[in-house]
Amino acid sequence: MNFDNIKIDNIHADWLSSKEITLDVLRLDKIHPIISGNKAFKLKFYIAEALLHSKSTIATFGGAWSNHIVATAFASKMAGLKSVGVIRGDQLPDLSTTLSSAIAYGMELYFVTREDYKDKEQLMKRYDSSDFFWINEGGYGELGAKGAAEILQIVDTRNYSHIVASVGTGTMLAGLSRSSLPQQQIIGISAMKGNFELEQQVINLLPKNNAYKLSIIHDYHFGGFGKHPQQLLDFIKEMNQNHQLPLDIVYTGKLMYGVKDLVSKNYFDTGSKLLIIHSGGLQGNSSLGDKVLTF
Ligand SMILES: *Cc1c(COP(=O)(O)O)cnc(C)c1O
Repeated sequence: MNFDNIKIDNIHADWLSSKEITLDVLRLDKIHPIISGNKAFKLKFYIAEALLHSKSTIATFGGAWSNHIVATAFASKMAGLKSVGVIRGDQLPDLSTTLSSAIAYGMELYFVTREDYKDKEQLMKRYDSSDFFWINEGGYGELGAKGAAEILQIVDTRNYSHIVASVGTGTMLAGLSRSSLPQQQIIGISAMKGNFELEQQVINLLPKNNAYKLSIIHDYHFGGFGKHPQQLLDFIKEMNQNHQLPLDIVYTGKLMYGVKDLVSKNYFDTGSKLLIIHSGGLQGNSSLGDKVLTF
């Protein structure tokens, strides 16, 4: 993994300066075009654990456009491990670019019906082998959070008042919370509609009695996980035009839309210094075809 490319972008705009708020973006998307930003961090300790226990294969779950699936395939290959992906939904004649990449990185795919996909325990039994190391869907878990905690250590993040990130399973948010300073607020913008279990799922990954300053905002799902109405696509185009900031349709587009809206609603105090985590995921934009978002 090349962390030298990671940099901080300062975003300059009237909607920020008029409120005396600064906004920086930590560009984890620059690590690698395919293995999306936060996944490089989240997978690190799972892979180490698998190697420690001399497992030959990493096995996990995901959908046809899953950043986690392709990142796991890539990270496993880098570590000299085999990988298996249990994929939600029947195999279509044309594989998604995500799954084609996963196969190119040596991942073996098992397609299961949407109904069967719901019962992960059953699937683990169906496919299990003694040299498999299983990772939860989306990389949820303490080792994932431990890896994500390192995100705030690659650059100097001490001066920010707020760290804002997108939330899927909440693993990254737990990691950010673990490594933030006591005076920093951690804010998550959920990519899902009405997933109010997230708070507890994040807390479950934190040390007991952790004095977390954590809030999850559920207002920017745009209709649900993976939904991307025209209004969101227009916003993503605008951010790329105005700030050369490429965003993805599942996570970071909604994150940045939410941040802008919250700024306009005076959610942040004057003088706030925001650090937005660009957690990657750009590979997923290819689900739109290659003419919709042209970056
Ligand atoms: C996986 C992913 C997330 C969500 O991370 P969690 O740790 O599951 O909350 C956010 N952004 C991008 C781009 C992702 O790929």
